[in-house]
Amino acid sequence: MIRKPPILLLSLAVATALSACAKKDDAPAPAGAATAAKAEPAALKLDESKLPPVNRFLVTDLDTSKNACTDFGGYANGKWLAANAIPGDRTSWGAFEMLAERSTAAQQQLAEQAAADKNATGVEKIVGDLWSTGMDEAKINAQGIEPIKGELAAIDALADKDAIVGYLRSSAAKGQNGLFGFGAEADFKDSSMNLAYASQGGLGLPDREYYLKAENKAKLDAYQAHIGKVLELAGVPAADAAEQAKAVIAFETRLAKVSKSSEELSRDVSLYYNPVTLADADKLTPNFSWTEFFKSQGVAPQDKFSLAIPAFHAELSKMLGDTDPAIWRSYLRFHTIDSASPYLSDAFANQNFEFYAKNLRGQKEIKPRWKRVLGTIEEQAGEALGQMYVKVAFPAESKAKMEALVGNLRTALKGRIDNLSWMSDETKKKAVAKWETFTPKIGYPDKWREWNGLSTGRDSYIGNVMAANEFNYKWNLGKIGKPVDKTEWGMSPQTVNAYYNPLQNEIVFPAAILQPPFFDANATDEMNYGGIGAVIGHEMTHGYDDQGARFGPTGNFENWWSEADAKGFSGLTDKLISQFDAYDAGGTKVNGKLTLGENIADLGGLATAYDAMKKATEGQPDPNTDGLTRDQRFFLNWATVWRRNFTPEELAVRLKTDPHAPANFRAIGTPSNMPAFAAAFSCKPGDAMVRAADQQVVIW
Ligand SMILES: [Zn+2]
Repeated sequence: MIRKPPILLLSLAVATALSACAKKDDAPAPAGAATAAKAEPAALKLDESKLPPVNRFLVTDLDTSKNACTDFGGYANGKWLAANAIPGDRTSWGAFEMLAERSTAAQQQLAEQAAADKNATGVEKIVGDLWSTGMDEAKINAQGIEPIKGELAAIDALADKDAIVGYLRSSAAKGQNGLFGFGAEADFKDSSMNLAYASQGGLGLPDREYYLKAENKAKLDAYQAHIGKVLELAGVPAADAAEQAKAVIAFETRLAKVSKSSEELSRDVSLYYNPVTLADADKLTPNFSWTEFFKSQGVAPQDKFSLAIPAFHAELSKMLGDTDPAIWRSYLRFHTIDSASPYLSDAFANQNFEFYAKNLRGQKEIKPRWKRVLGTIEEQAGEALGQMYVKVAFPAESKAKMEALVGNLRTALKGRIDNLSWMSDETKKKAVAKWETFTPKIGYPDKWREWNGLSTGRDSYIGNVMAANEFNYKWNLGKIGKPVDKTEWGMSPQTVNAYYNPLQNEIVFPAAILQPPFFDANATDEMNYGGIGAVIGHEMTHGYDDQGARFGPTGNFENWWSEADAKGFSGLTDKLISQFDAYDAGGTKVNGKLTLGENIADLGGLATAYDAMKKATEGQPDPNTDGLTRDQRFFLNWATVWRRNFTPEELAVRLKTDPHAPANFRAIGTPSNMPAFAAAFSCKPGDAMVRAADQQVVIW
């Protein structure tokens, strides 16, 4: 099973990304060491003229038949949304996706150059090998299911509980474990040291509620049909495949019942943390010895590790004892084929697309092979490709300009904390202490991850994927019990996103997001403040959202709040929850609780960026570009960032699982709480975009 469990442990499981568009891969969380001293192979080149366009604010996009004060979304984005349909191979389309296309096209040029260089070494060899084997469609198709036949035979031979447990250990040791996540992450209580964490997993659908709520029955049935089809493709007779599919659904439903929902996990980060000794863990799961599991993964025995979610693991242990080995074999057989499918012949890859992309998310066409292969490289060797990417796609002056912007945002945030009316001076002092330790990371890591020991070749695509997967898993396990390497990055430089990691109190901005509409070295100030400035403010505010605020200045999970301040905070957040609960996304309401942390971050982020812009432009005449004021353009660029079309299916998945509200509500939600917005567009009390003073929420 190559697919990672749905809940991942590593930085990004507890870190909060700007947008859900990034894939949260576990092991390839980067960092790594310089190979710069070695002779460089042929210099990489980027032909920018071949890249797709960026999406920047244009005054001609405004729908002047709409009123910014009553329908800001329609005024700023309506025309654009109507004119820009979602491409067939995507399920959403907006500023993020357009930059992602641009990044992908740049990556394609780099991968082709790496593959063409037969003498490539280091990261270029890895990228070139994955690319050229992945693009060899004829060979992949000729092999059919052959590459995983040995694995399936091993599953067929599992006759009893002991054999199954042995198989779970040995496949996990190869980085193939869909049942639960296992890996290193900073210890919540001592964030300078890495601890081993186990998490829940095992489900093929994105959330427990797909299994448990009647309203999702159609998707569950479609998943069951998919399981049957996958088994049939692998040679299981139809009637038998249908029976096995039914059993797999029952198996996963049992796991769903003891799993935590997306909402629970996003609103209580402590659910990830349950430190226990190996002996106590073994007592909780009598059929699954953690002592033996650690041994089998090559991890030295630890004094403690985090076993989350305990009820999930207790149930899994029970299932080892009471579930027919034939059902276990069906479950393992299906997931082994299913997770390998993207790397197998067209029949398998297409079936994978049919369910996960088309049925579940409304994607009309499968992505062309070259994009799928780049997706695989991103998952397995993202930072290797990133090392090539930043050489050609990240101008040095961008970094300097960004550093200045981050500095100005920092100053503005300090000003806001000092002026908070709802917080006591004592707690403010601690908030400022946390503010003082923020670490910004911009563009790409100072130190690149090393890939020594990963062996790839020109022989087999899935062989390369499995080798990289195992390498990444072991690389991650190698950190357990060791000090945290603070130079590591949890996103590759070519990712169009940003994140905050509460365990290191760091804000991270990959190179690929530093383009319009977020950032443009030649743009007027208000565009950069309404774009990347608000993103910087957003990530900083995550340090003070309902979960981020549970971590202290050094990243340790601790309570630094007075009781009265905590109460004041939750009064404000309750108001924000109600605001988003009231938004209707195509017949389904937004979940204000699930999206609370992100909404707090937007609220603080945009307000902080506005303050910083005012400071930066103090005393400078308003250029009134295109007949719009500086303040108007600030809010319009914020809206440009959050214009996005979704397929109805994608929207449905996100409303259940994504801690971010649908983008178009982010465009309007925060401005509706800001008097500066009302002033910028001369709105009147009572207008839809102007909340009454007692309804406005200001948290940070
Ligand atoms: Zn965020």
